Amino acid sequence: MIRQAKGKTPRRPPPKKPSNNQKDPVGVYCRARPLGEEDEECCIEVISNTTIQLHAPDGLKANRNGEFKETQYSFKKVFGIKTTQMELFEDVAKPLVEDLIHCKNGLLFTYGVTGSGKTYTMTGSPGQGGLLPRSLDMIFNSISPYQAKRYVFKPDDKNGMEVQNQVDALLDRQKRESQTSVPKTPTTRRFDPEFADMISPEEACKASGVDEDSSYSVFVSYIEIYNNYIYDLLEETPFDPIKPKPPQSKILREDQNHNMYVAGCTEVEVKSTEEAFEVFWRGQKKRRIANTQLNRESSRSHSVFIIKLAQAPLDADGDNVLQDKSQVNVSQLCLVDLAGSERTSRTRAEGSRLREAGNINQSLMTLRTCIEVLRENQMCGTNKMVPYRDSKVTHLFKNYFDGEGKVRMVVCVNPKADDYEETLLVMRFAEMTQEVEVARPVDRPICGFAAGRRQRNQAFKEELTRRLEDRGGPVDGDSPTVLNQLLQSFPPLPPCEISGPNDNVTLPRLIEALEKRHKVRQMMVEEYNKTANMLKSVLQEQDSNLLSKENFIQEQRGRLGEKDKMIQNQKNEIDRLEKKSKMLEYKIDILQKTTNIYEEDKRSLQQELESREQRLQREMSEKRRMESRMQGIVTDAKLKWEKECERRVNAKQLEMQNKLWVKDEKLKQLKAIVTEGKTENQQPKRPSREKDKVPAKRSASPSPVPTGPPVRPLHRRSHSAGGERWVDHKPTTNVDLDTVLQPNIPNAIKVNAPNEKALSKCDKYVLTHQEVASDGEIQTKLIKGEVFKTRGGGQAVQFTDIETLKQENPLAASRKRRSSETGPDGEPMEGNWTDVETRCSVALEMRAGSNLGPGYQHHGYPKRRKP
Ligand code: ADP
Ligand code: MG
Repeated sequence: MIRQAKGKTPRRPPPKKPSNNQKDPVGVYCRARPLGEEDEECCIEVISNTTIQLHAPDGLKANRNGEFKETQYSFKKVFGIKTTQMELFEDVAKPLVEDLIHCKNGLLFTYGVTGSGKTYTMTGSPGQGGLLPRSLDMIFNSISPYQAKRYVFKPDDKNGMEVQNQVDALLDRQKRESQTSVPKTPTTRRFDPEFADMISPEEACKASGVDEDSSYSVFVSYIEIYNNYIYDLLEETPFDPIKPKPPQSKILREDQNHNMYVAGCTEVEVKSTEEAFEVFWRGQKKRRIANTQLNRESSRSHSVFIIKLAQAPLDADGDNVLQDKSQVNVSQLCLVDLAGSERTSRTRAEGSRLREAGNINQSLMTLRTCIEVLRENQMCGTNKMVPYRDSKVTHLFKNYFDGEGKVRMVVCVNPKADDYEETLLVMRFAEMTQEVEVARPVDRPICGFAAGRRQRNQAFKEELTRRLEDRGGPVDGDSPTVLNQLLQSFPPLPPCEISGPNDNVTLPRLIEALEKRHKVRQMMVEEYNKTANMLKSVLQEQDSNLLSKENFIQEQRGRLGEKDKMIQNQKNEIDRLEKKSKMLEYKIDILQKTTNIYEEDKRSLQQELESREQRLQREMSEKRRMESRMQGIVTDAKLKWEKECERRVNAKQLEMQNKLWVKDEKLKQLKAIVTEGKTENQQPKRPSREKDKVPAKRSASPSPVPTGPPVRPLHRRSHSAGGERWVDHKPTTNVDLDTVLQPNIPNAIKVNAPNEKALSKCDKYVLTHQEVASDGEIQTKLIKGEVFKTRGGGQAVQFTDIETLKQENPLAASRKRRSSETGPDGEPMEGNWTDVETRCSVALEMRAGSNLGPGYQHHGYPKRRKP
């Protein structure tokens, strides 16, 4: 309620919190419209009169693997498709109109996707009037007999209301009527075809408890908020058909009671439903024209219809409005048809339209944010700033949320499948909105009880008479007759003219009359006193009665107040605890979430670390492999080339030496021929080379060239390869190695497997055994033994010696030898010294190695008995 500020009262401090701390949640109602086409897919179901269920359409379920189940939403009331406009009005808007008449503010808005029935619900259609026309109708049905004359109430342009006396009002009326054609209150109902039969007469309803001692006036304003600009739809601007002026936007102001209002907005005083309708349709028409001219989309604008009800008490006579501005009460009911709540993509807007859509969405978004913050503040006891100022819609209704008033919302839903996702969002918002609480408006009756002042006076008189009658007093119905009788018996004065000094008639007659009169007068005084006393006693009695009653009431009130206080305290305590527990829950929730986030982080970091380590390991091993491969390649190439070089050098050397030898021979022959003449008698036979060598050497000039081939004399063959007869055992599995050195055993019987016959003929046995050495080379071992005749007549072999034939790369061999001699720590390498055999071989090799060329090692082996 917007109570008029008294002229002398200073501006109240800003936080205009209502004195009462009773709060009501925002009333959220849900209305489902019927499907456009019967066979369309329907995605909502009204479960009960408070619950509605949404189920995902088939297509969506398939897309999302059926993850969407049915969701249920509960509201104060859910209205199914069969709900009539009247039923909806009864539940939703009627209480708001009752409140309006009892000086309380109300806000009612429709929310939903475009096409969900917001406008149908708010405005309706012919024969199916919506909440707005019904509200207007109810207001006028209730206050019609008590309306003030036009211009008695006069808006002061600061959201306040002046009150004028009858004369000023009349002057104003005449002035305005002469200026403009103010619509006269139509005498016939429903005169405009556009809203003909919006409400059928039988549906008309009326508020109860209208204060008959007040005078009322209704003012309406109609604004549109588009693209966050406010337009006055009732502003009368002269229309220029050639160059139509774009509508001017209005600004919001705060009045001295901190209520928001649209500055300079037209407020039309209406005296009947029809007149109000007419004004509404005028605004609608203007809205339509503006939308067409400016190429706007009506679904993107919010329309706000404001009904203001001014009421002030009548004066003592009950004839005129009390001329006291501070006694004027103004309450208002805002009926808001919000823009479609859908996201922009749905309508495929482009360019400036997209921007506009953004702004409209922005206002709805701000509305959502405000509701969210309010809810959080109320639930968690926080004091976050509610961003009302972020959009015009929320700014205008700021006072409803942080001041007092009843707020109701009708959420409209279209059951069609296309709207499913948007409807989900609408439902969530609506459900959340219910959790916001708004201060309940306090009762402020203007003139006490409902009965009119004159009627009350009459009732008082009747009561008084009745009581006097009861006491049998003379002041009741008979008293006038007693008095009349007395008055009638009041003797008239006789003629008082004295005819002469001896006139003895006139004076005594006069005396007699006067005496009579005196008697009557005394009687009358007595009667009067009696009546007065009676009246006094009645009044006193009544007074004392009243007093005792008042005392009693006072006492009861005091007790009630105490009880109330106690209850209130307990309620407050409960509220506080509830809020605290909610806040703690909220905090726990947040902490839980934070922990989850940290854990998630930790896990991901660990994973990353592991993967990096693995990568590093992989790279390292790759590197090592590469290194060894490269080393291998290098060594191989080096060895190959070294071998090759050596081979070539040796070949060349041999060739050169051969050539030298041949030349030497030729020279010798030449010398022989030259010296032949001198020594003709000497032997004609050419001396053998061996024999020749020494004398030649002796006689010849000292030549540096060696006479024999520079090959070292052959190593003495093992004694084992002497003149004895051998069994040469070569298993067929042996590989024929292309080595230069081959065992040459003369006088041997070659066998693949030892047999009696061969053994009986021989006294020596040799087994050519091949095996792969630790360095990968094939080793050929000649395992030698002696053949004995056994006592039983058979043969036995006793192994005595092993010769090893081994091919080896000279460089690799030397390197290997070096590394095998000592390990990295100077200790002999393990593995190479593991068995006695190898140790002995190596030891012997050291001894024999100097005589043998690379590639051939003669390993002596100590005699070993066969186990
Ligand atoms: P909105 O204002 O939400 O965009 P409208 O109120 O214009 O939607 O409704 C779209 C259409 O659906 C209109 O033709 C209206 O008559 C129809 N409609 C909406 N709600 C109902 C209802 N409850 N019963 C019958 N028709 C309805
Ligand atoms: Mg609409």
